Amino acid sequence: MSRMFLRTLRDDPADAEVPSHRLLVRAGYVRRVAPGIYSWLPLGLKVLAKVERIIREEMESIGSQEVRFPALLPREPYEISGRWTDYGPNVFRLKDRKGNDMMLGPTHEEFFTLLVKDLYSSYKDLPLSLYQIQTKYRDEARPRAGILRGREFIMKDSYSFDVDDAGLEASYQAHREAYVRIFERLGFEYVIVKATSGAMGGSASEEFLAVSETGEDTFVRSPGGYAANVEAVTTVAPAPVPYGDAPAAHAEQTPDTPTIDTLVDHLNEKFPRDDRPWAAGDTLKNVLVILRHPDGTREPVAIGVPGDREVDAKRLEAQVAPAEVEPFEEKDFAANPGLVKGYIGPAVLGTESSTGIRYLTDPRVVEGTRWVTGANVQGSHVIDLVAGRDFTSDGTIEAAEVRAGDEAPDGSGPLELARGIEMGHIFQLGRLYAEALGLKVLDENGKLVTVTMGSYGVGVSRAVAAVAEYAHDELGLVWPRELAPFDVHLVAAGKDEAVLAAAEDVYAELIGAGLDVLFDDRVGKVSPGVKFKDAELIGVPTIVVVGKGVVDGVVEVKDRKSGDRADVAIADVVGHVQGVLS
Ligand code: ATP
Ligand code: MG
Repeated sequence: MSRMFLRTLRDDPADAEVPSHRLLVRAGYVRRVAPGIYSWLPLGLKVLAKVERIIREEMESIGSQEVRFPALLPREPYEISGRWTDYGPNVFRLKDRKGNDMMLGPTHEEFFTLLVKDLYSSYKDLPLSLYQIQTKYRDEARPRAGILRGREFIMKDSYSFDVDDAGLEASYQAHREAYVRIFERLGFEYVIVKATSGAMGGSASEEFLAVSETGEDTFVRSPGGYAANVEAVTTVAPAPVPYGDAPAAHAEQTPDTPTIDTLVDHLNEKFPRDDRPWAAGDTLKNVLVILRHPDGTREPVAIGVPGDREVDAKRLEAQVAPAEVEPFEEKDFAANPGLVKGYIGPAVLGTESSTGIRYLTDPRVVEGTRWVTGANVQGSHVIDLVAGRDFTSDGTIEAAEVRAGDEAPDGSGPLELARGIEMGHIFQLGRLYAEALGLKVLDENGKLVTVTMGSYGVGVSRAVAAVAEYAHDELGLVWPRELAPFDVHLVAAGKDEAVLAAAEDVYAELIGAGLDVLFDDRVGKVSPGVKFKDAELIGVPTIVVVGKGVVDGVVEVKDRKSGDRADVAIADVVGHVQGVLS
């Protein structure tokens, strides 16, 4: 440690919100260069290499072969697949000296597809699985939490190539099993959830989430085993309601009812129901947003949800991708004078209506349901507006928030919500990219068929942070053995030469036994207190302290996680440590 390129910090970095960010910077594993862009220091690089090793071993175990593509890529393949536009501002774009458009790869489906097309032509060459561990670039709107969400990050991405659907299913299952082993070895609690496929397109997809309070993803699970990313949850729509007896819709004065709560109170006071009190869920709230499409056009859209639920930004984003969601601004109201702010109702919504604004409703708005909603007049709402009789929408959208207690779509019970960090994503792309880029092979009958593909990702750099999210305590990091930067942290804790000499002997013996040792040899430079604090912060699971005990021929072996200490005779140190490690 007297020569190691390392400076531990006493204080948390000011911009750190989550434990992993705080501790990886303080303990000298990574260092920020720019928002979402980090350097890996010697300690961090060692952990990263161990994560990579686990992933390589498990990928090789399913017969996937490692390759490496460039990160600097030409535009054309992305143009053909449509993603040059679809990825929008998330792609880092640049030009070469001749003026050609280039980009820094955010993911590599197109390039793998083209490479296989380049070299393979027969069903006999398949199945094939290729992977790489490589740096990706995404100009994320919200880089956060250190290396958890970077703009430059390391991903393992792999791709499977099969001639038919059964082959794709088998490749997908093999990957799924490899991922289970990877995440078991990384040691965190994880869940496998149904997912949406986002900008990738394709069909079946699942995510591996590390369960963590600090995660950005919300997922749901039911007692009966349903699990899904909140974006992928589908609503259990009620059956249509007969409305033959429903009264005609009637507009009523509802002054000073700017919120759903004030509206509900007003209804209960002035227009009480016979059967039960009015509730927020009886109202239909019409929320306006702007969709910015990849080609730059701004489309106003209205989303109708029951008034007891908010529009969930992430669910909405997943539904409208690759378009991005922007707020509906004053200038948009000005451009649509038919919209009476706060009192917007279905009569002025829909592509066929006076405003022409596309109107999408929650799946709960089924035929025959009765609503209280805006009457498009200041201070007025309409009551008993019946879906299917008095209004229709341009379709449904899964954008309303999912709440604890909602029914699982498969009937497996009420949902519970929790948070996680997306660690891996596997999907059956199908023939989307192969079709676009012309990846075909001759089948058994000599007929050209389009190859079907899968795409599979693991966040490698993110994994280091995700592990740190659980592997720490108030003193610092506490690495699991398989990922720790060193096997042993050896501390020479004393001023005199005898301690240093004894520590050097112990060091030589541990190294001789094939162990990787971080040796704090800063005798006379740093106090023992500082050394102990550093050892706790850095988080190597076994700490050997050579101190006053040398006069009696003993050292102390400490377990970083449990805090247990044992005095061990110097002659037995190697054996003792090996016992702990095995
Ligand atoms: P997210 O929803 O977190 O943005 P994503 O759906 O965009 O992830 P994929 O495109 O499926 O992610 O990428 C595969 C894996 O790469 C993810 O499961 C995640 O572990 C990792 N990853 C994605 N974006 C980042 C990032 N900005 N920083 C670090 N790791 C990332
Ligand atoms: Mg993303």
